Amino acid sequence: MFKSKFLEGVDLSKSNAVYTLNNGVKIPVVGFGTWQVKDGEEAYHSVLHALKVGYRHIDTAEAYRNEESVGRAIKDSGVPREEVFITTKLWNKHATYEDAKKAFEESLKKLGLDYVDLYIIHWPNPYMHRPNWEVRNKEVYHAMEDLYFEGKVRAIGVSNFRVHHLEALLKTAKVVPTVNQIFVNPSDQQEEVVSFGEKHGILTEAYSPLGTGKIFELTELNVLASKYQKSIGQIVLRWSLEHGYLPLPKSVTPSRIKENLELFDFKLDEDDILKLDELHGAFGLTSDPDQVDW
Ligand code: NDP
Repeated sequence: MFKSKFLEGVDLSKSNAVYTLNNGVKIPVVGFGTWQVKDGEEAYHSVLHALKVGYRHIDTAEAYRNEESVGRAIKDSGVPREEVFITTKLWNKHATYEDAKKAFEESLKKLGLDYVDLYIIHWPNPYMHRPNWEVRNKEVYHAMEDLYFEGKVRAIGVSNFRVHHLEALLKTAKVVPTVNQIFVNPSDQQEEVVSFGEKHGILTEAYSPLGTGKIFELTELNVLASKYQKSIGQIVLRWSLEHGYLPLPKSVTPSRIKENLELFDFKLDEDDILKLDELHGAFGLTSDPDQVDW
């Protein structure tokens, strides 16, 4: 069974558990996802509620167009800034060093912050820059490295990268990415890139940990839910933690937001983890980042 080395010394019975990134920065083991959370009331109240029930890690992106509401909620929550880990992402249209620096300043302004905890390249091979993706990634990552050296971000990383994208980036990177945020749930476990990341000290953040809701169609999970007296969502999120991924569940429903963080008072037996592993492909695999048309 795959168990990430990032789990070493991590106590998954504690709700304030953190992983330690390759640069020493601590990151809460569950993050709150905000893709498709509408800007305005929805994003504001969801993030506010998430912080109220104990999340200390929020995942947003320029492309989600909700950074302003996310930032406002963080500010109004009363939780000290240094206690919240905030990630945002550089969108695909940015292809040069200058573009990336400018985009970061805009995100920072929208969020109302003076630094972010983690800044990542959203996609490795944007449609509009497809012929020169290697050069584009090298340039924007160079800007991120400078933001890191300037102290404007505490960590930098990537998202949706496959092995060949990471290999190309590592040829010129001065700073090894701290994370690769990819689609990981029982239906697509992306072993190849996960093990490459593991070898290079790159933590796997599991986006769409509930398969953007598709996991709930797998009725066979009801058996495990009743065995552990937990919901299907909690079983699958705990599976993610047991492997040492960092799940980023999204919800705009207050009861689910709370439920998705109640993961630290039970653990899955190894044979049940293996049963979930066998669901690979159950509702299909994620898109190929070299083929996406965005
Ligand atoms: P998830 O896999 O987290 O699933 C969210 C869906 O499941 C929503 O429809 C939600 O409904 C529903 N849901 C959540 N919790 C429960 C529950 N306990 N019981 C029943 N239904 C539930 O979705 P995402 O695809 O949004 O992924 C999560 C996050 O990962 C994103 O928000 C984003 O931050 C990140 N991400 C990053 C990407 C990238 O390219 N880097 C791409 C995709 C996602 P409702 O909201 O109505 O409660």
